[in-house]
Amino acid sequence: MGRKSAPIHIHVAEQTKEVDDCLAWSGTRPVRYLLDHFDVSSRWCGIHATHMTADETQRMAASGMIAGLCPTTEANLGDGIFPAAAFLTAKGAIAIGSDSHISVSPAEDLRQLEYSQRLRDRTRNALASGPGKSTGRALFDAALKGGARSMAQPVGALAPGLRADITVLDDDHPALIGRSQDRALDSWIFSGGNSCVRDVFVAGHHVVQNRRHIREEAILKNFRAAVKRLTA
Ligand SMILES: [Zn+2]
Repeated sequence: MGRKSAPIHIHVAEQTKEVDDCLAWSGTRPVRYLLDHFDVSSRWCGIHATHMTADETQRMAASGMIAGLCPTTEANLGDGIFPAAAFLTAKGAIAIGSDSHISVSPAEDLRQLEYSQRLRDRTRNALASGPGKSTGRALFDAALKGGARSMAQPVGALAPGLRADITVLDDDHPALIGRSQDRALDSWIFSGGNSCVRDVFVAGHHVVQNRRHIREEAILKNFRAAVKRLTA
């Protein structure tokens, strides 16, 4: 991948202090500054983009720049709430990431994203694509599509030519019994979370088998040694 096609990820407008500092320095808010001064396109991924005016939200969505959201990190740091309802209505693309690793659960991050909108707007099913539609499905599909594009990697769907990254949920997990399709996605995201995951394939390699990573013991041993070294 060349310099001209590699994705560009940039932190922007995560905390209000950043916005204030940028205003003091340039007279312009950070997202607007990016849109005004750079050739922002779908190659770009604005990480956080928490604090935007309605105009910045519309313009960022129209530019194709992906919003790289880290909802549990943003909640943990008290950053603020991304305007996801307006951004998705404006056909903006989103991806999620773990950032500070306060959580490493995509289900939990998607749940936090949805719940932050509900709490702010005192609504339900804030990011579903329409009345009666599955919120989990809307969040999952949006994050897969935007996530794949934000990395410029052949991932994000089960299709010929794409990398075989597969998560298998446990249909015997209490949160998933009797659930299938969109209802299973809703139950995974809003209820069971990581405990629903039974198997994981990465590029076709079966790395988590019946809830155990194939190198779990070695990884834990190395991790323990690394932490010990760092804290000695
Ligand atoms: Zn960050």
